[in-house]
Amino acid sequence: MGKPYEERIERVRRALAEQKADFLLVPASADFRWITGAGVRSTERLLCLVVPRTGPLFCIVPRLESDALAAECPWLERVVWDDDQDAFSLLAGRLALERRPVLLLSEGFRTAPLLALAARTPCLPAAAALEPLRAVKDDEELRLLAAAAGHADQLVMETASFMRAGMTEREVQRFVFDHFEALGDTDAWAIVASGPNGALPHHMTSDRRLEEGDVVVLDLGAFTGGYASDITRTFWLGSPAAEAERVYAVVDEARRAGIAAVRVGAPAGAVDAAARAVIEREGYGACFTHRTGHGVGLEIHEPPYLVKGNDRPLVAGMTHSVEPGIYLPGRFGVRLEDIVVVEAGGARRLNQAPFTPAPQRVRG
Ligand code: ZN
Ligand code: ZN
Repeated sequence: MGKPYEERIERVRRALAEQKADFLLVPASADFRWITGAGVRSTERLLCLVVPRTGPLFCIVPRLESDALAAECPWLERVVWDDDQDAFSLLAGRLALERRPVLLLSEGFRTAPLLALAARTPCLPAAAALEPLRAVKDDEELRLLAAAAGHADQLVMETASFMRAGMTEREVQRFVFDHFEALGDTDAWAIVASGPNGALPHHMTSDRRLEEGDVVVLDLGAFTGGYASDITRTFWLGSPAAEAERVYAVVDEARRAGIAAVRVGAPAGAVDAAARAVIEREGYGACFTHRTGHGVGLEIHEPPYLVKGNDRPLVAGMTHSVEPGIYLPGRFGVRLEDIVVVEAGGARRLNQAPFTPAPQRVRG
């Protein structure tokens, strides 16, 4: 086991001691990858990493996943089970559940093992212990997040150049998927929201054909070395709908105000307040219907959440989005999103894609 995993496991053990818990249980998830470095698949078969407060880690693993895990984590003890075995009783035995140990449960358990554990011994969510650890990125994580952001920058501009009236949203989405794949990224996703669909912040990309004059929201990302990208730019085809230029300018100012509010020690909610104040001042407050941002790392959405009422302070090394938007139902939407790193001097943007709503300007 190399750095940084040794350090992470030590910090997890300290968190277990602070919470007076005996074991951390982690199913296939981003937490699993953060602790071990291994990517494992979540299926109906029980797979569970166990981190004891003291003593070696082990993993309950189905036979058919075992060799792949061994290749990634040769240092990790595997408790292998066959399809005709009862994996839960294997886990219960190793934890000595009859002694009622206190368990911290990570996100991602299936309902049946979750309820079975909770029925037999005290269980607590692991989030309070793990979230603050995962939220602060180390240098290697920041390097991967910067690489991921670079790919997203390239893709969003290439996609804008590719878009033409007459294409369907799905054709544009396919372009995004193919080009992320060509860069070696995995699990690409894209929201292509044209015209009135842009007023739905999480629109499901459809077969609607792009039209001249459409405002198009492109929100896309993928994973580079396990770390997520997430960028949004808004473009228009030809002359934009009435009011679009004004709305764009307001969202852009809100974005800059949000980024300017990022500083070490500031409550996460202050970033939301700064971006929202601009949009409210311009009379669009009711049209900004979501929080200003979310953390990004091994998951696309993770702490910190930049939302009203979140008083938890920003910490150097956190990475999060700033993504204000204005949505005019039945007409169009505008959203602009960058990922930033919290640093001593404020926010450093990981995304460098320009803000050029007319994609013709970037056609090469
Ligand atoms: Zn996004
Ligand atoms: Zn986002």
